[in-house]
Amino acid sequence: MEILVDLDAIAHNVRILAEHAADAAVMVVVKADGYNHGAAEVARAALAAGARELGTTTVDEAVRLRAEGLTAPILCWLNTSDADYVSAITAGIEIGVSALVQLEAVAAAARQLGRTATVSLKVDTGLNRNGIPATEFPEVLDLLGRLVGDGTVRFRAIFSHLALADLPQHPANDMQRQRFLDFIATAKEHGLEPELAHLANSAAALTRPDLAFDMVRPGIAVYGLSPIPELSDFGLRPAMTFRARVLRVKRVAAGEGVSYGHQWIADRDTTVALIPAGYADGVPRPLSGRFSVWLGGARRTQIGRVCMDQFVVDLGENEAGVVAGDTAVLFGGEPGHPRAQEWADTLGTINYEIVCGPRGRVVRTHLGGDR
Ligand SMILES: *Cc1c(COP(=O)(O)O)cnc(C)c1O
Repeated sequence: MEILVDLDAIAHNVRILAEHAADAAVMVVVKADGYNHGAAEVARAALAAGARELGTTTVDEAVRLRAEGLTAPILCWLNTSDADYVSAITAGIEIGVSALVQLEAVAAAARQLGRTATVSLKVDTGLNRNGIPATEFPEVLDLLGRLVGDGTVRFRAIFSHLALADLPQHPANDMQRQRFLDFIATAKEHGLEPELAHLANSAAALTRPDLAFDMVRPGIAVYGLSPIPELSDFGLRPAMTFRARVLRVKRVAAGEGVSYGHQWIADRDTTVALIPAGYADGVPRPLSGRFSVWLGGARRTQIGRVCMDQFVVDLGENEAGVVAGDTAVLFGGEPGHPRAQEWADTLGTINYEIVCGPRGRVVRTHLGGDR
């Protein structure tokens, strides 16, 4: 089984985001191996389509992109105080700092190397997860001022993350915007002017131009999935296709049960196809009996339990003549294909989690782009 990642779809989606961003730059978020699409390949395609910067979670992810030859600015933002800042500074990675102890650790690494570290401050405007709270901001600014003064640190940006961007009109977005402006003003009072400010994820980038500041920071939309599926698809194209080849086709007689627990019993003689992809490969077991695949030119209902390595679909009288070796699309972006969004809706989760699912034995291939 395999996932195909269409880099032309990535480029298309980046262009849509750049249009919405207007004068703001686009940082493409490629954390978690590019939402499981391949961080380096996605980064190259996105930069070629007009994105300017890259965002990751960890130092490791950022350093790996450098090793892959990517020279664009890269920011990493979820760092422990004992993260490998020496490697980050050596690779010219911009370090997102969310606490005083982290800034101290970054400064120590910079001094050890005799190099200047580039730092962005992540401030907490209401998500209450990892940013610097307003109460701790002055002491961080005091230290940052000294570090900028002696050349240990370059102060690049102030940034923050939204809690309710998928509800564009929710007042929390306005509250976070105001608090963000207050943080920027406080920094200026300390004589610290960031080179840029950024706040917007995909949802805000597509719906709230007033939150774009100098740069937007989309992830999911780059991959062609809507951050607000109940509102719009925003013209985005899903980049990932998850597919597998039929292992065998066989007849099942009326009254026979299929798969563990016999949760599906044939009410007529029928034909079934065995697809060798299971929950170990990113087909969630709770989808059992609740999805369909694109096979032989139509949707085919999945029947019985999804197992670790395989599941079964019902072909009825198999008028389409499906045979072993034919390709079934589990989800993808073409007309007729099931969508990752359908799996998310059925499971009560979000499309992000679905595209992060395929793993292990699944082989990933990239199409398009200018490779
Ligand atoms: C993941 C992440 C993003 C991208 O969010 P999407 O909803 O995928 O657009 C942006 N900023 C930060 C800090 C993130 O962690």
